[in-house]
Formats: sequence, structure tokens, C-alpha cells
Amino acid sequence: MSSEESNTDCIFCKISSGEIPSQILYQDEDVVVFPDVRPLTPVHLLVIPRKHITSLAEMAGDETPIIGKMVKVANQVAREQGISESGYRLTINSGADAGQVVFHLHMHLMGGRHLDWKH
Ligand code: 5GP
Ligand code: ZN
Repeated sequence: MSSEESNTDCIFCKISSGEIPSQILYQDEDVVVFPDVRPLTPVHLLVIPRKHITSLAEMAGDETPIIGKMVKVANQVAREQGISESGYRLTINSGADAGQVVFHLHMHLMGGRHLDWKH
């Protein structure tokens, strides 16, 4: 099953539930934001739905509104992080060719320095 409320083997479900402690920068009933463990930019956060959705490609049609909420939250956190005016990038990798390694939908929020295309 590609979408379920929670997956006991999933690292991001464990962060969302608090089973694995993380610095939570934002959370509500739908969305959680925490730092990427291997930051590639001065600000590198992950925005995830609480619901265990494996990837963009596996999303059910009625699940796509969560993407809008994730963007809304990312914009708010970007303002709080002070990178709203300097600029930032939101990225969702889907599948092997895009380099997806964690199969719980997540949006990278990256900024704090100039970003070349892809880097
Ligand atoms: P992907 O390539 O799947 O889009 O990105 C997965 C991201 O999750 C990577 O940037 C990686 O550093 C991050 N990551 C992997 N495991 C953990 C973890 O246990 N905690 C946190 N905070 N980030 C993780
Ligand atoms: Zn999960």
C-alpha cells in the first residue's frame, strides 16, 4: 500500500510521531518540518506530511492538496529562517533517477547561499 497513516519501518514517520527525537521547527496536524541530517545548504529543512505517502508518483489524486499545504508551510518557515527575500528552493525527488532515498514524501527547503541549478 503506497499511502497509510503511518508506517512502523519509516524513519520520517518516527520523526513525525516523536519516536525519534528531532528538532521540530514547525508542526501541525498535517505537516512537520525538521532539519535534514546531512545539510547541503546553510538552511536545509525537510517538509513532510504526517501521512505516510511514499512518493509523488504514488500519490492518490485526492491526496494532492497536501502539496499546497506543504508549500504554504515552507513559505512561512522560509520567512522565519530569514531566507524569504534572499531566495530558496523547494524540491521533491520522486523515484530512483531523481535520487529519492527516503520513501516518505518530503519537500527539501534549501537556501542561505546562492544555489546553482541542481546544487
Ligand atoms: P531524498 O534524496 O530522498 O529526496 O532525500 C532524503 C533526505 O533525507 C536526504 O537529504 C537525507 O540527508 C535526509 N535524511 C535521511 N535520513 C534522515 C534522518 O534520519 N533524519 C533526517 N533529519 N534526515 C534524514
Ligand atoms: Zn512514513
